Amino acid sequence: MKAEIIAVGTELLLGQIVNTNAQFLAERCAGIGIDVYFQTVVGDNVERIRSALRIAAGRADVILCTGGLGPTLDDLTRDALGEHVGAELVIDEDGLRKIEAFFAERGIVMVESNRRQALTLAGADVLPNDTGMAVGTALQHDGKLYVLLPGPPRELKPMFERYAIPWLRANMNETLPLYSKSLKFAGIGESGLEHALIDLIEKQTDPTIAPYAKEGEVMIRLTSRASTEAEALAKMADVEAEIRRRVGDHLYAEEDVSLDAVVVRLLRERGATLAAAESCTGGLFADMVTSHSGSSEAFAGGVVCYSNAVKQSLLGVPASLLAGDGAPGAVSAETAAAMADGARARLATTFAVAFTGVAGPGPADGKPAGLVYLAVAQEGRPTEVRELKLSGSREIVKLRACRAGFYELWKRLK
Ligand code: ATP
Ligand code: MG
Repeated sequence: MKAEIIAVGTELLLGQIVNTNAQFLAERCAGIGIDVYFQTVVGDNVERIRSALRIAAGRADVILCTGGLGPTLDDLTRDALGEHVGAELVIDEDGLRKIEAFFAERGIVMVESNRRQALTLAGADVLPNDTGMAVGTALQHDGKLYVLLPGPPRELKPMFERYAIPWLRANMNETLPLYSKSLKFAGIGESGLEHALIDLIEKQTDPTIAPYAKEGEVMIRLTSRASTEAEALAKMADVEAEIRRRVGDHLYAEEDVSLDAVVVRLLRERGATLAAAESCTGGLFADMVTSHSGSSEAFAGGVVCYSNAVKQSLLGVPASLLAGDGAPGAVSAETAAAMADGARARLATTFAVAFTGVAGPGPADGKPAGLVYLAVAQEGRPTEVRELKLSGSREIVKLRACRAGFYELWKRLK
C-alpha cells in the first residue's frame, strides 16, 4: 500500500513549527507495512488543500492528513476533503456531547465555532479524540483511504495508535495485515546491537528486524504478516529468542517505553526509594524521574550541588576530596561516591545516584568535556562508581549521563 502524508498548516510553511507529525506517521506506517511515497505540506487554504488531495489521490492509496481540524476559520481540512469527495459535513453527536460536557463542566460558555470540532463527513467513520476535542475522520472513497487527524501531537498520536491503525488494518486491501513488536535496549549502542545481530538482520524476511536509534535509546522492531496477532507473535518467537540469547542482558522492555519509565515502575514495585545528588546534570535526572506519574512513591528528592560549598554543606563531601594538594577534586570517582553516600544517608533511601563531571563544551579544571563520574549507592552494598566518557553537546552529555544512571539502577532492580 502506497501512502502520502499531507500536513496542513501555514505555520509549517513559515518554518514556525517543525513537521514532527509527518515523522511520527511515517515511522508508524513503516511499522505496519504501509509505504510512504510522498509527504506534502500545504497552508491553511481550502483550494490548495483540495489540490493537494487531488494530487495525492492520483499517486497513493492511503492519504493521511494532519492539522486543521480545530474550531477556527483557518481550520479547513475537513471542508476540503468534503469538497474533494463530494460529501456533506455532518455533526458527530458523540463528539458534540463531549465538547458540550467539557464546556459545561468548566462553566464556560460554548461558542458556535466549537461545534465545528465535532464535524465529520457523511458516510465516514469517526475517530474519537481521547486527549482533545476535534474528532478525526476516516473515509473510503474511490478505492482510496483518507484519514484526517488533528494537528497537536498529543492528540494525533493516541488517535492514530488507538483508532486509525485498527481502521487502516480493517480497510486495507492487503491479504494479511502486519503486526509488530518493539524490543527496547539499554547500555548498548545502535552499532553494538547491529554488530551482534548483523547476520539476523541481513537474512531477515518474515519477520523483518528493523533497528531504530533515538538519542541514546535503541529499539528493534520485529514485524510479521499474519492473519492474527497470535500467529504473528508465534512467527516472531524464534527470532526473538535468538535476539534474547545474544543481547538479552540489555533488553529492558517489550514495548516502546523509556528506560526512566521502567526504572520508576520497578522502584515502586520493589518498594524501593531513590535520591539524587546532581552536579553536572543540574537536576535533569530528578526532572526525568518526576516526569512519571506515581514517582512520588519512590523518589525522595535530590540535591543540585553545583558548587563545592554545597557538596560539602548539604551532602557532607569531605573538603579534603574537593580541594588542596593531591586532592582528587570535584570531578572524581571519590567525590561521586561521597555525593551518593551523602544523599542516601541524608535522605534515608534505598538508592542514591550521583553525577559529577564536565558537561562541556570546553574542558574544566584540566578535565576533558564529557568526563562524568556516576556513582550508585545502595543499601547493603558497596557504593559503585562508573567513569563515563561521553560525547555530544552540553545537553546531550547531560542526557546521556542521566540515561547511564537509569541503566545502572535498572541493572540493580531487574
Ligand atoms: P487546534 O484544535 O489546536 O486548532 P488543529 O487540528 O486545527 O488543532 P492546527 O491548527 O493545524 O491543528 O495546529 C495546531 C497546533 O498543532 C499547531 O500550533 C502545532 O503546535 C501543532 N501541529 C500542527 N501540525 C503539526 C505538525 N505537522 N507537526 C507537529 N505539530 C503540529
Ligand atoms: Mg487549528
